[in-house]
Amino acid sequence: MSTATPTSRSLADAFTAKGLRLTAQRRVLLEIIESATSHLDAAGLLQLARDRDARINRATVYRTLEILKKLGLIDELDLMHLNGEKHYYEIRTGRDHIHLACFECGRIEEYESPVFDQLKQEIAQKQGFSIGVVRMEVGGRCSICVRANSREQ
Ligand SMILES: [Zn+2]
Ligand SMILES: [Zn+2]
Repeated sequence: MSTATPTSRSLADAFTAKGLRLTAQRRVLLEIIESATSHLDAAGLLQLARDRDARINRATVYRTLEILKKLGLIDELDLMHLNGEKHYYEIRTGRDHIHLACFECGRIEEYESPVFDQLKQEIAQKQGFSIGVVRMEVGGRCSICVRANSREQ
């Protein structure tokens, strides 16, 4: 997961720039989302947040995620529904990537390609479509699971 943002502004800055109140609890949540090294779901986020401030509750987590989504600062992903209806969140980076989900071990890999960017341009040009968000997910078996399976046979 990339930590690069399109601007150098932090989530907290973007949040207050919109005139939203940045409480201490929200600041903790924003910091965790910003420094996340994997795709977090709401429960995972709540757990990490509680390690830092035990008063943070589920409602605060959901409300904060909802605001960040509306502001276009984070993306919501379902990652091939590997874990049922769980949703995952990641900070928007300006560089679109494809998510590769392993059905066997649950690992999520990120893949960037100029071809993906070309495809977006092509869609915009040929369809005259103004693209706001692109999401692409690929499900299958990761290279580690492929290797492990071929050894077993
Ligand atoms: Zn990602
Ligand atoms: Zn795997």
